Amino acid sequence: MSKSYYDILGVPKTATADEIKKAYRKLARKYHPDVNPNNKEAEAKFKEISEAYAVLSDPEKRKQYDTLGHEAFTSSGQGYNFHDMNFEDLRHFKTGSFSFEDIFEEFFGGGSTRRKSKTPSRGEDITYSITLPFEVAIKGGEYEITVSRQVTCPKCGGKGGEKSICPTCHGTGRINKQTGIFMTQSYCPNCRGEGEIYRSVCANCGGAGKIHTQERIKVKIPAGVDNGTKIRVPQKGHEGAQGSQPGDLYILTKISPHLIYERKGDDIYLNLDIDMFEAAMGAKITVPTPYGAVNITIPAGTETGNKFRLKGKGMPKIDGSGYGDFYVEIRVRIPKIEAESDRQILEGLKQKYRLNLRSGLLEQGKIL
Ligand SMILES: [Zn+2]
Ligand SMILES: [Zn+2]
Repeated sequence: MSKSYYDILGVPKTATADEIKKAYRKLARKYHPDVNPNNKEAEAKFKEISEAYAVLSDPEKRKQYDTLGHEAFTSSGQGYNFHDMNFEDLRHFKTGSFSFEDIFEEFFGGGSTRRKSKTPSRGEDITYSITLPFEVAIKGGEYEITVSRQVTCPKCGGKGGEKSICPTCHGTGRINKQTGIFMTQSYCPNCRGEGEIYRSVCANCGGAGKIHTQERIKVKIPAGVDNGTKIRVPQKGHEGAQGSQPGDLYILTKISPHLIYERKGDDIYLNLDIDMFEAAMGAKITVPTPYGAVNITIPAGTETGNKFRLKGKGMPKIDGSGYGDFYVEIRVRIPKIEAESDRQILEGLKQKYRLNLRSGLLEQGKIL
């Protein structure tokens, strides 16, 4: 069983004309096809609420609907079936003093002309990928990029050419249709409801009203950008329908790897090789950081994998809230000692500094 028109609008059967109007406006704003482009579900919902409203807003029809009930009324041919209409048809739907076009104008503002009543669709966004050197992720910077944007044709101002009044509908954009006893209006197929047809086509844009231009755009890259950061440049996307907002430009960043620094989130890692003597005896070593060289002290007995942290010397945080840390990660390198005289020197040290590393190892590993 179908839902009643009251249920569809979410109002009680006793609702006043004003309450019905309010409920419809609220729903129509939500589901209007101009607000939900290419959304079939919203479109179906919009038709459903519009059909409900067309009946319930008409006192005569509402009375018949209440008397007959939903099933009988809708099958009696006195209602409307908006289901198979396209949106342009629906926009121009008119019966008695009722016209959706007038209602839509009320919702979406605009003056008395049809063109203005349309909420023009916003231009599309552009995504531009850029690979930046590591230094830019540290310092930020300004870049000039060339973007191919769709803009309004300057020759014809977006009109696409010279237009003249449509002879079929005499400029009204609508034609009358007799359906049973009802006179309904639908949009003119000759001019597709525009009321005008082309007399000559603009040579610059071929009638499209839009052209592609290469535009140089300055982009500020904030310090702290990472792989996959999206930087929004408002209104530098494609231009949309006349009178609408252009889309936005999104700069999608990728950061080239650095020769020696490895980034992990907001932190930076530096692999530092030291030899076994430095590892064994400790050392003072000057290491580079993106913010200048820093002296660090490696304690005696440092091993491969030990990390030393330099607080606040990492990546700048993109939200400006500070810096990550810088880590020096140690790898101990061992020289080959082959000369017999050297081996003897080390043999003495070996006895003195021997680490008892493998006691019990064979026992611990024994299974069979
Ligand atoms: Zn026409
Ligand atoms: Zn043009």
